[in-house]
This record gives sequence, C-alpha cells and structure tokens, in this order.
Amino acid sequence: MSAPTAEPTSVRCPACRSDVSLDLESTCVTVCARCLSVLERSSVGLRAIGVSGKLRDHGSKLHSGLRLRIGRSYVNVMGRTQPEDSSGNRWDEWYVEQDDGTWAWLAEDQGRYFLTEPLGGGPTLNHAEVESLEPGARVMLGGEPFTVDERDQSVIRAAEGQIPFFFRLDETSTFVDLSGEGGRFATLDASHDPPRAYVGREVQASELVFPHPGDPTYRAPPPTGGRVAVEGKCGGCAFPLKVRVPAESVRVFCTSCGEAHDIDGDAVRHVRGVGRDIGKRQPFIPLGSEGTLFGEKLTLVGWVRRVALTPEGEFPWDEHLMAVQGGGFRWLVLNQGTLTLGRPIPAGQVAPSGARVAVQGVDFEPFTIGKARTERAVGEFPWRLTPGEVTETADWTRPPYALSREQHGTEANWVLARHVDAETFEAGFPGRAAPTPAGVGMAQPFKHAAALRVSLYAAIVAFAIFTAQRLTADNRVATRLEATIEATASEATPQSVFGEPFTLNGGEAITVRVASGVRSNWAFVDGALVNADTGVAQPFGIEVSQYSGVDDGESWSEGDPNGAASFSALPPGPYTLQLNVIRGPERSANAPSIALRAEVVEGDPSFGWPLLVFLVIGAATIVLLMMRSAHDRQRFAYSDFPRDAS
Ligand SMILES: [Zn+2]
Ligand SMILES: [Zn+2]
Repeated sequence: MSAPTAEPTSVRCPACRSDVSLDLESTCVTVCARCLSVLERSSVGLRAIGVSGKLRDHGSKLHSGLRLRIGRSYVNVMGRTQPEDSSGNRWDEWYVEQDDGTWAWLAEDQGRYFLTEPLGGGPTLNHAEVESLEPGARVMLGGEPFTVDERDQSVIRAAEGQIPFFFRLDETSTFVDLSGEGGRFATLDASHDPPRAYVGREVQASELVFPHPGDPTYRAPPPTGGRVAVEGKCGGCAFPLKVRVPAESVRVFCTSCGEAHDIDGDAVRHVRGVGRDIGKRQPFIPLGSEGTLFGEKLTLVGWVRRVALTPEGEFPWDEHLMAVQGGGFRWLVLNQGTLTLGRPIPAGQVAPSGARVAVQGVDFEPFTIGKARTERAVGEFPWRLTPGEVTETADWTRPPYALSREQHGTEANWVLARHVDAETFEAGFPGRAAPTPAGVGMAQPFKHAAALRVSLYAAIVAFAIFTAQRLTADNRVATRLEATIEATASEATPQSVFGEPFTLNGGEAITVRVASGVRSNWAFVDGALVNADTGVAQPFGIEVSQYSGVDDGESWSEGDPNGAASFSALPPGPYTLQLNVIRGPERSANAPSIALRAEVVEGDPSFGWPLLVFLVIGAATIVLLMMRSAHDRQRFAYSDFPRDAS
C-alpha cells in the first residue's frame, strides 16, 4: 500500500470534462460526481468503463469526504459501491483510508456495520473452493476459524468517489460471508482472481463517532432518513401501496389482495404470479403498529403466514417483520398464541455440540427439525420474498430464549429469539391485546421458576438445620434401670419395677428405650414417667418380641427384643420411671428369667419445627417440580425431541 500523495490530484473526466478527484495513488477507480462515469486508472490516464446506476439512499450517515472515528482510529471515507445480492438486497460498501495509508472496507447493511481489511499473505481459497462452500462450513482464514453464513451472487449496481480496486458494473460474481466468535467477520470475494479474503469484525453503531457540526467534513444527515417515498397502487386491485421503510424494502405485498410488487427506484412494479390471495387473513396487529420491546422501538412492516410441514400435518404460524428505529429488523413470531422476538445473529456465534448448540457459552437443547413453507405475505420486505418457497428449519430452546436456523439454498440465517409474555407485549404496545395462548411457548419460561428456586434452597436449609440439630443434640441419659423379669410376670400378675428418682431438664424430646432379652416369646412394658412434684404421669407402652427356629434346614428369626417410645418435652422437675411388665404365656413356670434394661434419654431425636418446616417446604418443592415438569411436557408437545414423562 502506498502513502497518500502530498497534494490531492485533480484530473478531468474524459466524458464531461469536469474535475474528478484522485487523491490516493492506490485509487483504482474514481466516479465522476457530475456524469456518473466510472473512470478506471490506466497507463494512459483515466478511461471510462461505464456509467454508474443511481445510488439507493439508505439514509446512511456516511458519505464520501467524511472523516470519522471508528473506535480509537480515524478514517477518511473515500468512496463506495452498492452491490445487490440475488434476493434484491442492496447494501453499501464504504472504502475508508486509515491514518497509516491503508484501505479498509466498511460494509453497512440494514443497520449493521462490518469493518474488514484485505487479508495479506496470498490467496487462501481458489474459485472452485469458494464456489463449493455451504452454510455452516468451517474455514480457516489467516489462522482464524470462521463459519460460512451464506454464499450468494452479487452485482455492483452503483458507485461513487474513489475505489481501491478494479471492477465491472453489472457483472455477477460470487461472495461468501463468514462469521467467527466475538463478532469476527469475513468475506470471500470471487470477483477477483484469485478470490480475495477480507477479515475484520462487526462494528457497533455506537463505535462510529461522527464529526461535530462545526467540522469541515460535517454534512447533515438526510432529513428523510433515506429514500424519500415510494408511491404506487396495487397492480391487482388498485389499492394504494404503503412503503414504510423505503430505504431498505425491495418487495411489497398489497394489504388488500396480497399481490407482489418490486420496488424500483421511487416506483413499484407489479410482479405477476408471485403474490398469494390473502382472503380475510391479517396480522394480529395492523401493519404500521408501533411499540417498544426490550428497549427497541419497533414498527410492524411485514407479515408472513408460514406452515411447518410435518408427517402429522401442516401447522401454521405467523411471523411479523419489525423495522427497528435506527436500522435493522426483528421478527415477532406468533406460534400457538405465544410470542417471541428474534434478532439475526451470525453463524460464527453458534457452536454446535452434537444435537445441542451453544451461543456465548449458553447451551440450547434441540426442539424441532424439518421443513417450512412460506404461505402468503402482506407488507414490505428487504428481500424478494416469494410465497410457496420451502426452507429447512431447525429450532433449539433454552427458556426464555429460542434459537432458530433457516436454510434456503446457500444461505443460512440464525435468529436468537426471546419469549415475550402477554404483560410485556401489552406494556410495549399500548392498546393492543396480546394473543390468547393455546399452549406453552417453545421459549416460555416456567412462571414459578423463582418460587421453585427459593423453595429448593429453603428445603435444603431446613434439612440442614434439622440434621445439624440431630447431630449436635446432647442425648443425655436421665436415668437407667435394670430388672430381672420372672417367668411368672403375666397379664394377670404383671411384675412392677420402680426406678430411682431422677431429674428432667425439660424443653427437649424424651425417648424411653427398652432392651428386653426376651426369647421365643413376647413381652409388653406398660410404663409411665411420673412427676414426683405434681403426680402427673406420662404413660407409654412398648411391645417387644423375639422368635426364631429352623424350618427345612433354614434358620429364621423375627421380631425385635428391643423397643422404644418417644414423646415431646415434659416440664422440668423430679421424676420416677415406673414399669409394669407382662411376659407372654410360658410352657413352664420354671422358664428362665429375662434381664430387662430401660433408659430415659432427654434431648433424643427431636422432631421439632425444623422437620416440620422441611416437610412443608419439601412438599411445596415437589408440587412446584411437578408443575415445572408439566410445563416442560406442554412446552415440548410439538417438539421433534419430546420430553419423557418424568
Ligand atoms: Zn463526468
Ligand atoms: Zn391489491
């Protein structure tokens, strides 16, 4: 790259003799501002190679001669071309001179900016390789990975100012747009031999800093914000056609009959056989409706009825093209009565991992995969939308977000959408009623997600307190008692046992444990804790038994010779333990006596409030989990990856 020459060179247009600028030695083509001749620099001076078409006014704030700052660097806008892709979308390629004398390319398309520079180091891909790239393909450019967004054809329709490469007007060539992580962007341009690669990044509109009105390069932006107006009447029914985004729209469908028209300059041209009869079908809010969603001012400019083509049948949904104030478009999608708002994202931001995909580290699970047909449309579109077209579609979900891919031919579009609940919609579009839901939306979050989270945490905390209390409880043995129970102890003549006086501290749960030593028999301990001051007795009963034997060579045993009884705290004070013990009938009065041991434990397993709290919160958590499970089953009702009943 050569440095700018010291003095701007002024030369004459060979066609009209007016002055044309040729400021930089590296300028290859300059366009005469007066007669629009496209002048190529050659060994014999300037040679006219054609006449530029009329530039389409997109309402851009950029213009030739402007000096502006992009991030931290200043650039001079030298010129631009206006290529048009096969769908009729026309965008601006601004050529800017950087302060080190090198050129950069600043593409401006529907409110988005992409700054790239030619990739040095020789050719990267040959023509055959470029022509075979499909959406989703991974390509290394300058050692950096990129993903193909689309491969398409473009034609340069118009140009102005100075341009740093040779080109031919109206000659079709292939280009490939690619994106990488973190807003990286690249283009392969097959109009050169070998194809050239341009690598850079998407630039946010806020990074472009324009000169102050006092600056000599300042020029007021066009008052209309683009192409002034498009006037016309429907070629089918003579209904007036309204175009709300003249700077971007290339096709408009009659709101009365659905006939298609291409926007040609300031006029419209009826395209027969493309539009579909719309009958009485209309979008759920009228075209031109204005509102605000997630901080963006939106105007409804186009409506498309689409159908999913599935083995079970055709399922319709509606897409609403919303023009964003300040540039760009969003999709307000209405499916099963629920709304999402989507924005296009580059393929390079999407990282596939098996059937799942991740966007900026957030995982999405697969939802549907199939085909969809565009049925009919009204309003305007920035590409030549054609009803009847079938695209391949795939959706992923991660409430409140959904991710969609649409592929048609060699173009794949990714849209990251967000669930719009009825309150958000009605707050953003005052006076417009949200549609009535007919199911759970694919990106619809569980309404009680916050409650579920709180309830889960509370259950964990209550359980932890309960456990900690059990572990740290000082299980104090208040008294112990041992007695020999004779075989004569029976229902008719129970054996009474009285323990020593002891003290209860009160305020803690009480457990009486009994080890009976009973064998091949049962025993029943009919006991009481008697308050020595008040005489109030706390009765309890503990049944124990133990049987064993050998049947068919197999030994067996059942019953438990040990038992316990628990009750809540007793008032503090002096107590005695009193037991009346009965043994089951023995075969002989000389049957061996049994050694019975009993103990009273204070502070033992307290089933106090923490357990109660845990049980209540646990029950609430289970109900919420079941509700969420039902929500997800409904949400996945139309998925190709249905949820198992769980
Ligand atoms: Zn001229
Ligand atoms: Zn019409």
